[in-house]
Amino acid sequence: MTEFTIAEISKIVNGELIGNKSAFHLPIAKIITDSRTFFSGKYAVFFALTGPRNNGHSYIPELIKKGVAAFVISNQAAICNDAVFILVENTTLALQKLAAHYRKQFNYPVIGITGSNGKTIVKEWLHRILGNKFQIVRSPKSYNSQIGVPLSILQMDFNYNLGIFEAGISKPGEMQKLQTIINPEIGILTNIGDAHQENFKSTQQKTEEKLLLFKSCKQLIFCVDSIPSSTIIDKFCEHNSIEKLSWTLKNNSARIKFSITKTDNSTKISATLNNQNYKFSIPFTDDSSIQNTCHCFTAVSVLSSSVTDFLPAFEQLETIEMRLEIKQGINHCLLVNDYYNSDLHSLSIALSVLHQQAAKEHLRKLIILSDIQQTGLPKDELYKKINSLLNEWKMDEIIGIGKEISTQAERFTMKKMFFESRTDFENYFNRGDFQSSAILIKGARQFEFEKISALLQQKVHQTQLEINLNALVENLNIFKSLLNHKTKVMAMVKAFSYGSGDVEIAKVLQYQNVDYLAVAVADEGVQLRISGIDTPIIVMNPEQSSFQYLIDYQLEPNIYSIELLRQFIKTTTQFGIKDFPVHLKIDTGMNRLGLKSDEEIQKVISEISASAQIKIKSVFSHLAASDDPALDNFTREQFQHFEKCYSLIENAFPYKIDRHILNSAGIERFPEKQFEMVRLGIGLYGISVTGLPLQTIGKLKSTISQIKKVMPDETVGYSRKGKVNKESEIAVIPLGYADGLDRKLGNGNGQVMIREKHAPIIGNICMDMFMVDVTGLKVHSGDSVEIFGPHISIVEVAEKAGTIPYEILTGISQRVKRVYLQE
Ligand SMILES: *Cc1c(COP(=O)(O)O)cnc(C)c1O
Repeated sequence: MTEFTIAEISKIVNGELIGNKSAFHLPIAKIITDSRTFFSGKYAVFFALTGPRNNGHSYIPELIKKGVAAFVISNQAAICNDAVFILVENTTLALQKLAAHYRKQFNYPVIGITGSNGKTIVKEWLHRILGNKFQIVRSPKSYNSQIGVPLSILQMDFNYNLGIFEAGISKPGEMQKLQTIINPEIGILTNIGDAHQENFKSTQQKTEEKLLLFKSCKQLIFCVDSIPSSTIIDKFCEHNSIEKLSWTLKNNSARIKFSITKTDNSTKISATLNNQNYKFSIPFTDDSSIQNTCHCFTAVSVLSSSVTDFLPAFEQLETIEMRLEIKQGINHCLLVNDYYNSDLHSLSIALSVLHQQAAKEHLRKLIILSDIQQTGLPKDELYKKINSLLNEWKMDEIIGIGKEISTQAERFTMKKMFFESRTDFENYFNRGDFQSSAILIKGARQFEFEKISALLQQKVHQTQLEINLNALVENLNIFKSLLNHKTKVMAMVKAFSYGSGDVEIAKVLQYQNVDYLAVAVADEGVQLRISGIDTPIIVMNPEQSSFQYLIDYQLEPNIYSIELLRQFIKTTTQFGIKDFPVHLKIDTGMNRLGLKSDEEIQKVISEISASAQIKIKSVFSHLAASDDPALDNFTREQFQHFEKCYSLIENAFPYKIDRHILNSAGIERFPEKQFEMVRLGIGLYGISVTGLPLQTIGKLKSTISQIKKVMPDETVGYSRKGKVNKESEIAVIPLGYADGLDRKLGNGNGQVMIREKHAPIIGNICMDMFMVDVTGLKVHSGDSVEIFGPHISIVEVAEKAGTIPYEILTGISQRVKRVYLQE
């Protein structure tokens, strides 16, 4: 972005400027809203955004240390002497104002895209198709929210001559703000589906709200076939003097008529516009790709009078991958794969992820980068920018691959190596050269960097547990929405976060500002501390032998008996410690750990009162049957008993003590008992007892190793249990009970999904393999197999195995690699 001074920003956002006057005229080169995306570098201003989930103000001290010059804040308490502050009422609105002001400098055409699906794909494809003729600035990834849109607009500058931005809304009132910021000249309404319908009274209201984006457009592109009511659009366009660029696939009345012929793996498209006919094809056959293509074609026809020039680009379109993939590499390396179509902003996001991953194990940082295409910047300037970005993130080394980046080698000021093609690199490749490094692999699609990733990836068998970290955050937020704003959340990360892996999960939860993490034993807590987790941690089953660790690593014990209390007081006395935080567990009916009788509780009270070494942070209990309505009377007795014990304890101490009793099912079913804190476990990982729209965060997948024909008189597997009654096809899958697959799922009890089709397990499950019947399913060896995940629910698997989802999740053995996905 072009630079503003701090004083100018303050004026634009109507803020009050506070702090060191001499800094007011510093030029700001960077706007940040996410503390993770800033490492060091030029002058930056941080907008401390506040939301129900996260409060930017809490990152200010850390960012001051990193050298951030200025902060836009809404809470005066954040003000200190070490930086400049711009105080505003609402920091999100301030960011939007700044972006709307910034936008006004640019006169080149801007395309605004909204609709329920396809926004990002249409944007990315247009960029692909038009990229050789236009210098395009566009929203990074799917930045289309109240915050994403202003950040996207702030990427604009005078090097570009076309902008493409997407806008997404979830409730009424939001689009007006986005319109002021994007102010598009050409509009694309992709479609109106059911997404976010819950916040709108009707589809009509939602359509009207979406249309607001196009208020000042000259042209609006939309499909007449998929619009619920074209009269709304007709009226809107007439009222705002917008030219309607409608299209149809069904021979309805429209400006452009498309007709299609599908073949095996491509679609031939014919478009008729102004009595001219155009023919082209795309390498897709699904309906949404075809719709997205029609939108793109129509947009091209608006921007250029020689549409034919762009038709070859349609044949080259590719699917858009928007997630980063984090994997274990060879020789203690860690890989971050980002195949997202390269641009500077996505590079900076990927670098921040790499940095977080590298920091926890002190790895050196290497990037393997291809030519970056179609950014609209002159080459030397582009690669100079990339170099400074790499230096900002303190990258140790770059390996550049591609003809163009090779010619720019001298721009890079770190350890470097360049290859003209991926094959050159592969020929040179030597495994020993890659040691204890975090490696970002980022290349435009046609460089096929997945082949480099395959070279660097630790070879494991094809079975893996894929963990979707975004789904974890969404699940957390669904639970937070059931709670009062102030209620604290303790996230249960015991047993490797219910089998999902520990540190990665804890990092995400820490960033989401959960108040506590809970582990079962001290070792688990130590591991988290070593990996840089500083959120308070409670240890549910502390053992005397681990007390020293509790103290060294500031892990707070659950005190469940008088003996344990005495031992712990003894240890803290030896170490000369005061006020060490502990948590008291009351047994209200589970008959597991906990203080049970009033007498025990009284003893504990008097011993703690007499010792300055420890301090009670919270009193808690655990429900035995929070998920079962038939046992609600018992649960209510537990609540009563808990509240009684709590008041005994609370009355005995002069300080405030938190209470908590709800686990996941408890939060869903008894939110009125949330007290000061709740303990969220299985819900985080996607299991709900009341049907909350949670997402399974784990997907256990493998690939078919072999397929074979089996005749009616043959059998499959041990003890000849797998019988077939006709000529059948059997697929072998390299995953067995040693990986945690329950043997009870064998013999037709369980099933898997391959190519969107169900296949039953046949015969006994073996130690490292099992077989499924794929007769007639047209599957091939190498096909991906889902054992559980989005299509085969863990609840269903648990039922078939005669157990509970907890056991299925935690039972996946450690030899199954966890792979983390993050958007
Ligand atoms: C595991 C555990 C929880 C979490 O229970 P979920 O049913 O997974 O939500 C809560 N409290 C205690 C004491 C636990 O051990």
